[in-house]
Amino acid sequence: MRYELTQEQQLIKENAHKFAQEEIAPRAEELEESGKWPYDTWEKMRALGYTGVNIPEKYGGPGLSNLDYVLILEEFARADDAFTTSYQVHQLVSDMFLLFGSEEHKATYLPILASGEKMAAFALTEPNAGSDANAIQTRAILKDGEWIINGTKIFITNAGLENSLGVVLMAITGLREDGRKEISSLIVPKGTPGFHIGNKFRKIGWNVMDTRELVFEDCRVPAGNRLGEENRGFYYLMEHLQQERLICAIMAQGMAEAMLEMTIRYTRERKAFGKPVSSFQHNAFKIVEMATEIELGRAFLDRLIKRHMQGDSVVTEVSMAKAWIPEMANRVAYRCQQLHGGYGYMEEYPICRFYRDVRPISIFGGTTEIMKLIVAKNLELL
Ligand SMILES: Cc1cc2nc3c(=O)[nH]c(=O)nc-3n(C[C@H](O)[C@H](O)[C@H](O)COP(=O)(O)OP(=O)(O)OC[C@H]3O[C@@H](n4cnc5c(N)ncnc54)[C@H](O)[C@@H]3O)c2cc1C
Repeated sequence: MRYELTQEQQLIKENAHKFAQEEIAPRAEELEESGKWPYDTWEKMRALGYTGVNIPEKYGGPGLSNLDYVLILEEFARADDAFTTSYQVHQLVSDMFLLFGSEEHKATYLPILASGEKMAAFALTEPNAGSDANAIQTRAILKDGEWIINGTKIFITNAGLENSLGVVLMAITGLREDGRKEISSLIVPKGTPGFHIGNKFRKIGWNVMDTRELVFEDCRVPAGNRLGEENRGFYYLMEHLQQERLICAIMAQGMAEAMLEMTIRYTRERKAFGKPVSSFQHNAFKIVEMATEIELGRAFLDRLIKRHMQGDSVVTEVSMAKAWIPEMANRVAYRCQQLHGGYGYMEEYPICRFYRDVRPISIFGGTTEIMKLIVAKNLELL
């Protein structure tokens, strides 16, 4: 047993597994092909309380623990990582309202996010600012009780969905004496004049996930739409990214485990030269190497999740996990696809989708290189 689960947590895990295998996994290929967000699946998730798991009962959620959320996430990610990434963005932005919002924000937004009536989005990245968050150019000026926002955000998840709440965006709201930017987070509801939503990007994978450019042209929101304190946006961003990076590592680990399982099954059944392909020593060793790396990833992650939940400071370790586990999962994807031979390149085989979908986890939420940079700085090497 990886975590010691209570009876209630065991039930949460089993229910999430059942839901993921019955409702999410069977549709993964079709959704990837069509690129359409499954509003019907989302409705079922709403009915079962999956849409706002961490949100306290006071604000309409079930108020589950972080470990409960991890258990659900792992099961969902194994079924369809792209769908689960959209789901986790919604959860993480809901958390931002919970952690940093005023009582008025919480009362206004949390019930509709918890119930899944609306889906949340977060916008930091811009055409000329991704890894270098401090290079953002979107500006918000406070005038006559309104923030006037101008700028462009790119690669934004969930903001273009029909049930989108709008977006929480990062904008420059001042300059420090040393010339550095002050950044604040602002809530921009969908339909606000001046908030334009671009066409959906077509991607290599993760097509069920809605990814778009957002343009803000003299877009005005009330002064009260600032989420949290003025000029504290960078701090909120770091908190948000820390969670997102851990979740990315958890999803990549789940995918690596799922790929190994399907490959062991496949190579035991598939025969060449009269023998199962798993029984050729070269292939068996390849599988052993993957199993070992996956085991290491699991042990590291479980320890990290435990420490994170205890409230320990684990910035360095989260960056290590985000740097290493998605890259490991990508190596596993390559080798598992190779072990499937030609069938591994055919859409009918799930390894094909996993191969595509594991790729962006090394980029999304902070690239492998940026993670290494954080670790190197924290080790005082740079
Ligand atoms: C499918 C998808 C969905 C996304 N959804 C969202 C979203 O909802 N909201 C949001 O805000 N963003 C989102 N993003 C953006 C994502 O977080 C960025 O793409 C990512 O942070 C990298 O930024 P960039 O694309 O500008 O790459 P760049 O910063 O241009 O980097 C290019 C390359 O240079 C490397 N590099 C950059 N700086 C350094 C350095 N100092 N040292 C070494 N190497 C370096 C990078 O690692 C990378 O390999 C999404 C991206 C994808 C692919």
